[in-house]
Amino acid sequence: METLFSQATEAIKREARALLESGEVAAFLGFAKGSIPTVTRPFVARSPEETDKLIWNGLCVMNLANYLPGLLKSLEPARRPGEPPPEGPLPKVGVIATGCWSRNMVIQIQENQLIRERLVILGIDSPGMIDRRKLESLAGGKEIQAIEEAEKKVVISGKGFRLETARQEVLRDNCLTCTHPSPVILDKKIGPTMPERHVHEPFARIEEIERMDADSRWAWFQKEIECCIRCYACRNACPLCYCPTCFVDDSHPQWVGKSVDPVDTAIFHILRAYHCAGRCTDCGACESACPMGIKMRLFTRKLQKDCLELFASEPGLDINSPLPLTTYGPEDPERFIINGSKQQGTQGGK
Ligand code: SF4
Ligand code: SF4
Ligand code: SF4
Repeated sequence: METLFSQATEAIKREARALLESGEVAAFLGFAKGSIPTVTRPFVARSPEETDKLIWNGLCVMNLANYLPGLLKSLEPARRPGEPPPEGPLPKVGVIATGCWSRNMVIQIQENQLIRERLVILGIDSPGMIDRRKLESLAGGKEIQAIEEAEKKVVISGKGFRLETARQEVLRDNCLTCTHPSPVILDKKIGPTMPERHVHEPFARIEEIERMDADSRWAWFQKEIECCIRCYACRNACPLCYCPTCFVDDSHPQWVGKSVDPVDTAIFHILRAYHCAGRCTDCGACESACPMGIKMRLFTRKLQKDCLELFASEPGLDINSPLPLTTYGPEDPERFIINGSKQQGTQGGK
């Protein structure tokens, strides 16, 4: 059966092959099948023949913006430290971008991690991506051996079972509250354009947590991160976390302990969330990557809500708008500065 996904897969293969055959790009970044049916993997095609491996479906959840700076760097001619880049244009990369990934690319361009001219972006509107944990929960612990996906439904099957569910039921939490499915920068469109979505109460879960008193909120936070094994898969999946040495890996000075001590773990999560403040596009890659099912996206979602309320800012929507924490406007709220310590605990009313 032909679906939006199978049509998009064919279009991506066709466009990627043409880009590689013409020499316009040196590599194309997309997705290939993973080792089990519920997982896909980022994949770099470096020859026209390799584009046959490209796929597109609702399980393509890793944010491709994360891999672009490293891939582009790997295509540059080797040079000694301090040696200037070679003259002439550097090799380009083709890449697929949905709404949130394209916004991360905008942020990377704004933060001088990417050069727009070195990208050929195939933009694709996202119908919402699938949460493999929701599929696994539907299967009730049985091994999923095949997945069929259509516009409105998903069918999973395995030994002795075949189950159908509405696609909406198994979408990732971030996709359920996504309002901008269309890429904001692109060179060629794949598939149909989807309208901006109206989401009723997009921050409902955050507001629920905000209504807790401080002790309950702290207890909720500790409970949420108690099974964190500090594997850093969440950080490694995030296109915002490109620091050459992350603060958790530094040992001179050592900012935070390396163990799974609850205080060290809390510091990791609080600091990482704040490092993403005003930059996070709610792509959900961090949560999809976590082996422990921790909903750490809620921490960045809270800061997203604050940025929207305090600075009317949504990251990456406009390449010409500076990121909220790298600029200053006279109308910016600064109650904590004006009113001093009396107001500090109620900054932003939270
Ligand atoms: S958590 Fe902070 S320091 Fe670590 S990589 Fe991310 S942004 Fe950099
Ligand atoms: S913090 Fe998570 S949701 Fe936000 S941009 Fe990074 S990976 Fe995406
Ligand atoms: S991916 Fe999950 S377990 Fe690993 S560090 Fe992040 S929150 Fe902890």
